[in-house]
Amino acid sequence: MSYRAPVKDMLFLMKELADIDAVAALPGFDDAGYDTAAAVLEECARFNEGVVAPLNWTGDQQPSSFKAGVVTTTPGFKQAFRQFAEGGWQGLQHPVEFGGQGLPKLIGAACGEIVNSANMSFALCPLLTDGAIEAMLTAGTPEQQATFIPKMVDGAWTGTMNLTEPQAGSDLSMVRTRAEPQPDGSYKLFGTKIYITYGEHDMADNIVHLVLARVVGAPEGVKGISLFICPKFTLNADGTPGARNDVHCVSIEHKLGIKASPTAVLAFGAHGGEGLNGEGAVATLLGQENRGLEYMFIMMNAARFGVGMQGVALAERAYQKAVQYARDRVQSRPVDGSVKAAAPIIHHPDVRRMLMTMRAHTEGCRAMAMVAAAAFDAAHAHPDAEVRQQNQAFYEFMVPLVKGLSTEMSQEVASLGVQVHGGMGFIEETGAAQYLRDAKILTIYEGTTAIQANDLVGRKTARDGGQVAKAIAAQIAGTEAALAARSSADCQAMARRLGAGRQAFLDAVDFVAGNTRARPNAVFAGSVPYLMLSGTVMCGWQMARALMVAEDRLAEGRDVEFMKAKIATARFYGDHILNKATALRDSIVDGSEAVTALALEAF
Ligand SMILES: Cc1cc2nc3c(=O)[nH]c(=O)nc-3n(C[C@H](O)[C@H](O)[C@H](O)COP(=O)(O)OP(=O)(O)OC[C@H]3O[C@@H](n4cnc5c(N)ncnc54)[C@H](O)[C@@H]3O)c2cc1C
Repeated sequence: MSYRAPVKDMLFLMKELADIDAVAALPGFDDAGYDTAAAVLEECARFNEGVVAPLNWTGDQQPSSFKAGVVTTTPGFKQAFRQFAEGGWQGLQHPVEFGGQGLPKLIGAACGEIVNSANMSFALCPLLTDGAIEAMLTAGTPEQQATFIPKMVDGAWTGTMNLTEPQAGSDLSMVRTRAEPQPDGSYKLFGTKIYITYGEHDMADNIVHLVLARVVGAPEGVKGISLFICPKFTLNADGTPGARNDVHCVSIEHKLGIKASPTAVLAFGAHGGEGLNGEGAVATLLGQENRGLEYMFIMMNAARFGVGMQGVALAERAYQKAVQYARDRVQSRPVDGSVKAAAPIIHHPDVRRMLMTMRAHTEGCRAMAMVAAAAFDAAHAHPDAEVRQQNQAFYEFMVPLVKGLSTEMSQEVASLGVQVHGGMGFIEETGAAQYLRDAKILTIYEGTTAIQANDLVGRKTARDGGQVAKAIAAQIAGTEAALAARSSADCQAMARRLGAGRQAFLDAVDFVAGNTRARPNAVFAGSVPYLMLSGTVMCGWQMARALMVAEDRLAEGRDVEFMKAKIATARFYGDHILNKATALRDSIVDGSEAVTALALEAF
C-alpha cells in the first residue's frame, strides 16, 4: 500500500491546538495562515506520496554503494532530490532573502513529517542541510551566508554535520580533529570523522561539511572546540565549486536500517599519504574560535526536533501499513460472534488494542511536536520580548521530549506493526520489518535517549529548580479544570487521568530539582523514565485539549467521523498510555536505589 499523508490531522492540530492563525499574525509570517498551510500540505503530500514514497523500499533493497571513494545513491534518489529542490521544499523554513519561503516551523514540521514518512533515508539529506543552514544563519558572516546559504536552499549543494569521531560519540569534549591556522586566515583540517550522514553522495554539486575541530593550542575539553565550514570542492573566486578539497570518503557503513542513507567515514587531510599527513582540508572558521559546541547546539536543537518528527513519521507509516493488513488478513472467528466465520483480524479486540496504541502514540507525539513548533515560531518572531522568552523556555523544555519520546515510541509502534502482521511481519517482503529496522537509529543519533534525558534533567529542570516545568504543569491544571467542567464521561475520565499524570510529573520534577546535586546517581538512574513521564504527560495534555475541541465540533455537526475518532483516540491515550505516568513516577522517586544496587563486578 502506498502512503497517505495525514493532512487532515495535521491541519486540525495546527488550527485547534497550535493556533496557526496566531502564528500567521506574527511579523514576517504574513501569509502563513490556515489556508497557506492547507495548500502547502496538500502539495507536499502529492509530491511525497507520488515521487518519494515509492523509493523507500527500493532504498532498503538497493542501498547506497561505495566504490573507490565514490558513493552512488539508490536508483531514483538523485532525480527525486532534484524534483524536491526544484519544488522549493529545501527552502520552506529558510529566510526569503536567501531564496527560501520563510514559512513558520509549524508548517515546516508537518512537511518534515510527510517527507520522512515517505522515505526516511531520503529525507535525511535535507534534514542535515537544514541544520547546516541554521548554524550558518546563527554564526556565519554575511559573506559566508551569501556564499553558501542560497546554494543550499536551492538544493544545488547539501550540508552535513561532522561531530562524531571514533573516540568521541556522546562525549564531544573528546573531539581530536585538528585545525591548523593558515597565513591567509583560513585553516587546514586533519582528522577522521565517522558516521557522517550523506558525508559523500552523488545528489548535489558540492557538499558543505560543518566540522567540529580543535585549533592547535586550544584548551582541552568542550571549551576548545571550534566549528568550521569545509566544502568538498573549494570555491573559486566567483563562488563556483573549484578544486577537490582534501576531505575524502574512506568507506560507508553497512547498517541495520536506513540503508539508502550513506553513512560515511571521512578523512580530512589524508590525501596523498598514509595516515593524516596529506595537504589538509581547507576550511573557514564559522563564528568565533572555541565557541563551536555552542553553535553546534543550535544546529542540534533543530536536528533533534527534526529527528523527533522522524519518529512520528515512521510511526504513522507503520500504523497505516498495519491497518491495511488488519483489514485484509482473515483469521479466526470474532469472540463476540459478530461474524459467523473467520473474519479479518481487525475484528479481534487485541488487534484493535495494538492499532489504537499505534494510533494514539502517533497522534499524541504529533500534537506535542506541533505545539512545540508554534512556540518556536513565537520565540523567534513575537514582538514582545517577554513572550518570546516564555516561548523559548517552553520550546527548549520540549525539544528533548519531542526527540526522546517520539523516537522511543516509534520503536514500540513499528514493533506492534510487525506484530499485527504476524509471521508476515517478520518476512522482509511485507515491508513492516523495514520500519522496525529503520526506527532503531532514531533513539541513537542526534544524541541517544539517555543524552536527551541528561539534557532534560540538567539544563531543563535542575538548573532553574524546576520553574519552567512547574509553569507548564500550571497550564495543564487549567486544561484539567476545563475538562472537569464538562459533563461527558470522556472528559471526566480524562480530567482524572491528566490530574494523576500532572501530579506524577510534579513529584518527579521536585525529586529531580531537589536531588541532582546531592544525589546525582539517584536522579540520573531515573533520567530516561523522567523523560518518558514528562513526554507522556505533555502528549496526554494535548490529547485532552484535542478531545474538548472535537466534542465542540461534533456538537456543531462538523467532520463527524474525524471528530468521533479523535475523541476515541484521546480517551484511549488517557486510559492506556497516560495512566502509566504514575508507575514511571514510582520508578523515578522510589526506584533509583535498585538501579545501582548491583556492584559493578556483579554484572
Ligand atoms: C546511521 C548513523 C548516522 C549518524 N549520523 C551522524 C552525523 O551525520 N554526524 C555525526 O556527527 N554523527 C552521526 N552519527 C553518530 C551518532 O550521533 C552517535 O552514534 C551517537 O551520538 C552515539 O555515540 P556513540 O555511537 O559513540 O555511542 P556512545 O557514546 O559510546 O554510547 C553508548 C551507550 O552509552 C550511553 N551513554 C554514553 N554517555 C552517556 C551518559 N553521559 N549518560 C548516560 N548514558 C550514556 C549511550 O546512551 C549509549 O547507550 C550517526 C550514527 C549512526 C549510527
